[in-house]
Amino acid sequence: MDLLPTAPPAPGRVVEVAPGVLWLRMPLPFALDHVNLWLLRDGGDVALVDCGYGDTVTREIWSRHFSGALAGAKTVRIVATHCHPDHLGNAEWLASHFGSKVTMTYAEFMAAHAMIAGAAGLGPADAGGLFARHGMSGEHLAALAARGNQYHRGVPEAPHTFERIVDGDELALAGRAWRVVAGYGHSPEHAALACTDAALLISGDMLLPRISTNVSVWAGEPDADPVARFLASIARFEALPADTLVLPSHGVPFRGIGDRVGALGEHHRLRLDELSAALAAAAAPQSAEDVIPVLFRRTLDLQQRFFAMGEAIAHLNHLWQIGRAERLVAADGAIRFAA
Ligand SMILES: [Zn+2]
Repeated sequence: MDLLPTAPPAPGRVVEVAPGVLWLRMPLPFALDHVNLWLLRDGGDVALVDCGYGDTVTREIWSRHFSGALAGAKTVRIVATHCHPDHLGNAEWLASHFGSKVTMTYAEFMAAHAMIAGAAGLGPADAGGLFARHGMSGEHLAALAARGNQYHRGVPEAPHTFERIVDGDELALAGRAWRVVAGYGHSPEHAALACTDAALLISGDMLLPRISTNVSVWAGEPDADPVARFLASIARFEALPADTLVLPSHGVPFRGIGDRVGALGEHHRLRLDELSAALAAAAAPQSAEDVIPVLFRRTLDLQQRFFAMGEAIAHLNHLWQIGRAERLVAADGAIRFAA
């Protein structure tokens, strides 16, 4: 894997990573401290891929771009790879500023509205219920409840209307053809964008150079196996040309899709083996809460603890779904896993 030897753009600035393809970076108010956005430009024809977290800090930086990289834009199209706040947060705000439409997949559009409404098993109360069944402590459940709807904080307003894309669609963005590559396991229907002519892949959160993408189980689909979905999804990127420059949402652009997909597969296999060994060594069936220290050997802040819980359930569900662990459900709903 070769990282692009270029420093990331400062706030309000851009770095051109390919002709007409500009890299923007926005801050995030949590441990993962930045998100990369992409501005595709062909004269006055502009497409923005992802929008940043929906807070005043990011909007102030956007307004600097309005008089910078976006000056002279005639048509501005907004594409969201998925519904997470660092990607969708300002989509509606940008759409109303430019009078433009938001392009995204159907499941991501629906999930954004459901998360704001706390519906469809995607609300904070649903997460609390699932985590309680998986052994989360009363103290952490109280902290989760006290935090309220974190999603709505980052996405003050979801797009009211959207233009739907599905896997395999060709999008004409700023003079180039981009193909939608749907991916699963991280969010309901993530859209990466591949431009084979220019050997570019806007990978969103589906392929990151340093960190492994979060894969979580949500309360509405408690038996889900997002690990299997994620690994099957990223394997599809290997069909792209070997010299493809990957433009990820976090970290820096890189080449070497095959190496990175292989390393992520290995990472998850290792995690699953460690988890399997921990279940075999345990004196009693284990909850997801019990095995968090096996998967995460560092101190976790509150936000990271919730991500960790989702990851732990995801990996345990995978072991169960492929027959490497047994899942035990008690009369009170408590879920435990055994070798
Ligand atoms: Zn995401």
